[in-house]
Amino acid sequence: MLTIQNSIDKYDQAKKHLAGGVASSLRASMKPTPIYAESAQGARVRDVDGNEYIDYLLAYGPLILGHAHEGLTEAILSAMKNGYTYGLQHQGEIELANLLAEVLPCADKVALSGSGTEAVMLALRLARAYTGKRKVVRFHGHYHGWSDSIFTSFPSAGLNQQVTSAANTTIPPGTSGQSENSLDDIILLPWNNPEAIEAVLRSQSGEIAAVITEPVMCNSGCILPKPGYLELLRQLTEELGIVLILDEVITGFRLSLGGAHGRFGINPDLVTVGKALGGGIAISAVAGKADIMKLIDDSTVSHLGTLNGNCVSTAAAIATIHELAKDNGAAYARMESFMVTLAAGIRELLHKHKLPGIVNQIGPVFHMMFIDAPEVTDFDTFNRKDGAKYARFAEIMLNEGVLLRPNGLWYISTVHKETDIQATLQAVDRALSQLTS
Ligand code: PMP
Repeated sequence: MLTIQNSIDKYDQAKKHLAGGVASSLRASMKPTPIYAESAQGARVRDVDGNEYIDYLLAYGPLILGHAHEGLTEAILSAMKNGYTYGLQHQGEIELANLLAEVLPCADKVALSGSGTEAVMLALRLARAYTGKRKVVRFHGHYHGWSDSIFTSFPSAGLNQQVTSAANTTIPPGTSGQSENSLDDIILLPWNNPEAIEAVLRSQSGEIAAVITEPVMCNSGCILPKPGYLELLRQLTEELGIVLILDEVITGFRLSLGGAHGRFGINPDLVTVGKALGGGIAISAVAGKADIMKLIDDSTVSHLGTLNGNCVSTAAAIATIHELAKDNGAAYARMESFMVTLAAGIRELLHKHKLPGIVNQIGPVFHMMFIDAPEVTDFDTFNRKDGAKYARFAEIMLNEGVLLRPNGLWYISTVHKETDIQATLQAVDRALSQLTS
């Protein structure tokens, strides 16, 4: 049995002065207790009780090169030796902007920020300024950060939110304390529903500045866009003078070097990237078309941030992109093949243990859920999953030496090995036995 007493003690100590006991609300949801890390290397993390886990949480997505990657660490250290941040301009910003313009198909120009939330804020601001309109269409089950103007309620393990139904007309805020007026500009629609989007865009195009969407609904079930759906969004927004924003904070640098829009061949006006871009160092970006981005050039739109484009973050992003680009992107094929093996293995084990479940996988990310349904391709079906059972499974997996996000989303890194995959499948087998006993 896993000993986690030191983590339990530290969580108690933390609660004294650290609000909520954790630094980001979602982290409090880990059962039996939020785990305290001591060190990590490659695909493995060690906690303060000396337990070692194969890590598929990967810090909620950023660690695409795994922990303490040698090349990335060297790049960061060498940048730091010349100063962390200047509040002046430096070569790293130019180099990173050039690199992003090279690898992201939609990027004529980029703007750098610190988090996915900030990148989304900037993208929405650019879209409003560009179109002179104010409404924004977003979708059920998608997450675009926690700023007042976009954070709406959707079910997520560990966040105290209401479940919304597609029929809701008033939009519930994502949290107490959020100004409800800030959501007046939001139109919330079901995703992957061509009729719903076409009707709204055609009837309200005079008011709608932007449509923002995750290209794959990674935040709710890793659900793929229906064939033709993203293309329809592109075609309608183009025709009606609406900015199409792909929120690639998860999919950027994960689904391919060119993100989901590169992988799917979609040509959005703006994309937001974060997480994997910095390999674990805080950095995000908005990338997009020159005629929209030029609103920053001519100061029509303010883009601010004390630590934007600091030397540590730009060095980390440059090193991460170079590492991912090596050997023609061979790391992506490797990650994908491991995730295919893992997902197929888990499906077989679910079958073996007579536990109805679904694994929705694309590239180096998948969502595993317990649900009695032939497939999960929409948000309403996704909401029927047994979240409590999955949280229990994740808790048992911890005991088996595998660290998982309690909501079902798994990430893999470039440094996971075949042996990790096999050990994980054995752990899943044992965990499912315990779950059914
Ligand atoms: N957009 C998407 C699609 C996300 O998944 C997230 C974070 N999970 C964000 C935006 C917000 O990013 P951050 O947590 O870095 O502010």
